Amino acid sequence: MFRIGFGTDVHRLVPGRPLLIGGVQIESELGADGHSDADVLMHAATDAVLGALALGDIGTHFPNSDDRWRNAESSEFLLYAIGLADHRGYKVVNIDTIVDLELPKLRPYIGDIRRGLAEALRVSIDQVSVKAKTGEAVDAVGERGAIRAQAVVLLQIAERGDC
Ligand code: MG
Repeated sequence: MFRIGFGTDVHRLVPGRPLLIGGVQIESELGADGHSDADVLMHAATDAVLGALALGDIGTHFPNSDDRWRNAESSEFLLYAIGLADHRGYKVVNIDTIVDLELPKLRPYIGDIRRGLAEALRVSIDQVSVKAKTGEAVDAVGERGAIRAQAVVLLQIAERGDC
């Protein structure tokens, strides 16, 4: 049995914050604002996994009103979601993602971002796709006001086994 999940996230870009994408620190004048480490790709991927399981969203499990998650590493959220999948016997088949960011260009970082995401998902890098797009100078992304990520994930449950 297969289940598909979709996740999306957006964070404002502000000075004085780090810019983390898939656990990778990006050199940038602007960083992502947020309660946790504001890793937009980890958040979108977490929502995709939770969505595939029909278990709500990242805000349900990690409310930003909870101080435990202040500056939390977002890979923790994804590891937690993967733990829920594991517990139900589901494995990740693949994940495809898009990061929308005007600057800097992400091409030099794509390999590391794929590795970071693969590690948090506990899959191999060939199961992880990360595509980068710019905002073409329109909307909040294009005006360098925001970073956005989208993720779609496919989970498969083992036909037989003890889960
Ligand atoms: Mg977020």
